[in-house]
Amino acid sequence: MNVNKKTVKDVDVNGKTCLVRVDFNVPIKDGVITDTTRIEGALPTIEYLRERGAKVILCSHLGRPKGEVNLKYTLKPAAVKLGEYLKAQVTFAADSIGAAAKKAIADAKPGDVVLLENLRFYKEEEANDKEFCRALSEGIDVYVNDAFGTAHRAHASTAGIVQYGFVKTAVSGFLIEKELKFMGGALDNPKRPFVAILGGAKVSDKIGVINNLLEKVDTLIIGGAMAYTFLKAQGKNVGASLCENDKLDLARELIAKAEAKKVKFLLPIDNKIADAFANDANQKITGGDGDIPDGWQGLDIGPKTIELFSGAIKTAKTVVWNGPMGVFEFENFAAGTKAVAEALSKTDAITIIGGGDSAAAVTQLGYADKMSHISTGGGASLEFLEGLELPGVACLNDR
Ligand code: AMP
Repeated sequence: MNVNKKTVKDVDVNGKTCLVRVDFNVPIKDGVITDTTRIEGALPTIEYLRERGAKVILCSHLGRPKGEVNLKYTLKPAAVKLGEYLKAQVTFAADSIGAAAKKAIADAKPGDVVLLENLRFYKEEEANDKEFCRALSEGIDVYVNDAFGTAHRAHASTAGIVQYGFVKTAVSGFLIEKELKFMGGALDNPKRPFVAILGGAKVSDKIGVINNLLEKVDTLIIGGAMAYTFLKAQGKNVGASLCENDKLDLARELIAKAEAKKVKFLLPIDNKIADAFANDANQKITGGDGDIPDGWQGLDIGPKTIELFSGAIKTAKTVVWNGPMGVFEFENFAAGTKAVAEALSKTDAITIIGGGDSAAAVTQLGYADKMSHISTGGGASLEFLEGLELPGVACLNDR
């Protein structure tokens, strides 16, 4: 996928009506937004467009209303919060298409901001319905995508209105620009050594990512439950650890591919094991052979592995990390994940965190501002690392 895409800086937006797909899928409890990170993340693009005299029409989804109007999922609280940040009136349109949307768009003056109601009140949004795309594009001159979290979906607002040709000028906002710069840069032209760290529950979720990264990296580190499938494939005893027995052949193939490509493939050399899946289970560290006895399960990497993985991170010039090293939700099994986050916070390498759990871990530990880039999309960043085309990026105008 060509990632050299035009941004808001490459087009004249003065006096233009810009439809900006943002990610305002924020957690809301009793009408109050409990985490405003995503709204804050969208501010640079919105402010840039306002300053340059664009009419800024924002659209987003929120939650899963399943194609029906359900005011539990209204975006109105996001309009209020955004107005506070911008210190300006944000007009909330009670519909994303039709009369209410049309009127709000027609009344907008250069510099004004409108937020349309939740796109997913229409099933046509996710179905990428052509008529819905036509309705959404009415009166729109420029399409701006700044929602990386949905860029791997071909929905009406993420790709459709451009794919169907209803809007010709299509550019990225600053959030997507940064995603493409860092993740695209790492995949296309990384500073070496390039180290990738993958963790999490299942090998099967990340086969595509492992396959693609084996073409690019110098070292691939595997932790988390995923590692046990590889260890078992190498003939180790993994006890009651999470393990995908139907993926052992695949694991062996991936290890062979790493060897053929001369990619260093690092697996845990010791593990923190428990006699039950619980924070307060009996626990110990496996011995030198790394074997996990029957009735015990690996819930975190062990101290020697922490040293091994941290050492590899230290020598890297580019690091990509996706997925925890253990059951980090349990305090007693969070050490491996914390250690990787800490090692990343200390290196001068380009550090890229691929969304989801790893992003949450880095943020909770207070290391967020030490990372070069924390992706705003879990699923989208995985598909990107897999080398797949993201419709929400592919539809944007090439430079
Ligand atoms: P994923 O969504 O695939 O990135 O997986 C994240 C989940 O994997 C987290 O909820 C972790 O608790 C879980 N996980 C990581 N390591 C282990 C392990 N050793 N055993 C069981 N679950 C694990």
